[in-house]
Amino acid sequence: MDFGSSSMGSTAVLESPKTARSTAPNELEHEAAELEGGCPPRIRLITLITVIFPFVALAIVIAAMWQVPFHGTYLAIMVGMYVTTGIGIGTGFHRLFTHKSFTAGPYVRFFWAALGSMAVEGALTTWVAEHRKHHQHSDAPGDPHSPHAHHPEHGEGIGGVLYSFYYAHVGWLFHNSPTELEQYVPDLLEDPVTNFVSRTYWWWVALGMLIPTVLGGVLTGTWTGAALGFLWGGPVRTLVVHHITWCINSVCHIWGTRPYRTSDHSRDNPIFGILAFGEGWHNAHHAFPTSARHGLAWWKVDINYIVIRAMEIMGIIKNVRRPSPKSLEAKRRTA
Ligand SMILES: [Zn+2]
Ligand SMILES: [Zn+2]
Repeated sequence: MDFGSSSMGSTAVLESPKTARSTAPNELEHEAAELEGGCPPRIRLITLITVIFPFVALAIVIAAMWQVPFHGTYLAIMVGMYVTTGIGIGTGFHRLFTHKSFTAGPYVRFFWAALGSMAVEGALTTWVAEHRKHHQHSDAPGDPHSPHAHHPEHGEGIGGVLYSFYYAHVGWLFHNSPTELEQYVPDLLEDPVTNFVSRTYWWWVALGMLIPTVLGGVLTGTWTGAALGFLWGGPVRTLVVHHITWCINSVCHIWGTRPYRTSDHSRDNPIFGILAFGEGWHNAHHAFPTSARHGLAWWKVDINYIVIRAMEIMGIIKNVRRPSPKSLEAKRRTA
């Protein structure tokens, strides 16, 4: 696979993701996925459980409201876990590890790798590899989750449109072949910190379930509170984080504004700019992939950037990257 003129592991691929942009018909993407062999059955099963179980947990907590008095503590635990693990994905997995928007020492890297893992979106190496592949191809053949991929078996009409949305949102998790880690994330495989956290992924998932369980138990002083703390702060929180993250892949490549010139369909979407802590300013992100700041206007709330800026002020991270006013102007749409 061609990454352009520089080897993977340098930041070049992160800055210039359009190396494989082509005019080939989208059918090629579909054929390529089939030729690669698709998703192994074991991974499909794990993914299915990861996607379905949170819905089951949601049904249980709703049913439980008729039996056990609802406690605002559970909602607070859920929101707290959603905010922290969501920022773990945005600041950690995405801006730090995928795009190297800033540099950090081993303890800070460890923190973000572990926190992002608790979002239950797959091991760090896999997540980053798939996202780098998304930027490399971005709505062209080879993009793992483009809503603009053509799925001819589902027709040209509304059925085809709905399937494309489903595919970009969650379907791709069941269909794509595993992304080649050596090719896409050699830097993370070489780094002992990120390698260790990726290899121990399920332990971090377990810790992300244990924390709300303990909080629920301690704050209510009951075993029922522990069980409901687990359900609200574990799988129900996972449901929220998953679908908001996945909306960046689906919604933010369909609906929103395009203030900057890119060769894909990325959009700035204010709803997910807020709900995904800044990740929804996705057109700006595709225009300036290595920028630590995605909300490139004062009113575009970007919580992940506030977190990054706070770490910079505290002196625990360095080399925070931001586009220059000149490059911002150069890519701004005028019409
Ligand atoms: Zn995108
Ligand atoms: Zn990105």
